Amino acid sequence: MISNKQLFLLNNAQTSTSPNLLEIDYAEGIYLYDRDKKPYVDLVSGFAVSNVGHRHPKVVEAIKAQLDKYMHLTVYGEYVQTPMVLFAQKLVSVLPGNLNNVYFVNSGAEATEGALKLAKRYTGRSGIISCYHSYHGSTHGALSVMGNETYKQAYRPLLPDVQFIHFNEEKDLEFITEDTACVILETIQGEAGIRVPSQDYMIRLRERCSQMGALLILDEIQAAFGRSGKLFAFENFRIEPDILLLAKALGGGMPMGAFIANKEVMGVLKENPILGHITTFGGHPVSCSAGLASLEVILEEELLKTVAAKSELFRTLLVHPLIREVRGMGLMLGIQLDSFQQVESLSRLCRERGVVIDWFLHCETAMRIAPPLIISEEEIRKVCTIILKALDEI
Ligand code: PLP
Repeated sequence: MISNKQLFLLNNAQTSTSPNLLEIDYAEGIYLYDRDKKPYVDLVSGFAVSNVGHRHPKVVEAIKAQLDKYMHLTVYGEYVQTPMVLFAQKLVSVLPGNLNNVYFVNSGAEATEGALKLAKRYTGRSGIISCYHSYHGSTHGALSVMGNETYKQAYRPLLPDVQFIHFNEEKDLEFITEDTACVILETIQGEAGIRVPSQDYMIRLRERCSQMGALLILDEIQAAFGRSGKLFAFENFRIEPDILLLAKALGGGMPMGAFIANKEVMGVLKENPILGHITTFGGHPVSCSAGLASLEVILEEELLKTVAAKSELFRTLLVHPLIREVRGMGLMLGIQLDSFQQVESLSRLCRERGVVIDWFLHCETAMRIAPPLIISEEEIRKVCTIILKALDEI
């Protein structure tokens, strides 16, 4: 009989010649279970999605309750749908006062698209500034602001008027001028291999954008919802964006994204032309119910309180001659090795021993550590022992 793996390779579009091919039967908490019931600790969280763990009971309950009422009703922005109303209200209540208007979309890339359009429309300018080694999604607009030529060269022409600066380099901030509509920046760069900017840089960046009348878009699609130890990563730097991008953990395991701005800024999408951004499924009732439940879990279970200590434990334990550096903040860590071959071997050995780790799009010499925030100290000790033993063997 033809296996699911064979069917996957046959009928599902492939994005590489070496897919992971792990076949998961079910997932719960920090564990993925394959068809033989072998458990794997998920140190990737489905790429920074499962912050409250897989299938958190409160998230599952919220989804089931909404399924009994309605699923899709109509396009974004027309009917008053309770899950979307309540989720936006909750998000606004935990964000600074300036970020009080939420546009729900379907993915991180769509949040990027919406935000770039909003910045152009609001400022009447076309210049966009992004950073080298950034990742903001894979659609045409998002690809245009991706700071890695390898992934872009085959798809030109892309958006015009996009300029790249070096992340965390204060002198490059002079490229932000009165022609700049927006600067888009990951608060903590993810796919670059986890790069944390300095406090000074972030303050200068904020000042320069304000002086020039350019909107500051912070992409926290990967870094928000506790991953950095704060609910939103910008809280670590004492600055606020004009537009905030969210996705991944936003939906508590369901697909959704959002761009959030001030009501006055967001207002330009309403007219001249009307329907400045249109999306059929944006604010999907089931995704919003899941997202709201997930955010409540983060707050009620006080998950943020333990992130710094867990991060420190990883850093204390992950000491090995092959580890050059452990970078990052909270449970958004990168382990720097010397080569892709080491990274690949480490990943393979860990997986054989029940630990899933992965590397980064723009940094193939580092390993990603981004477990669900609910991982216990005992589980951290166990996985670190497995990682260190595997490093001994490569
Ligand atoms: N921005 C950042 C920082 C991301 O890490 C990602 C995805 O990895 C995206 C945007 C794109 O999100 P999505 O895959 O939902 O389009």
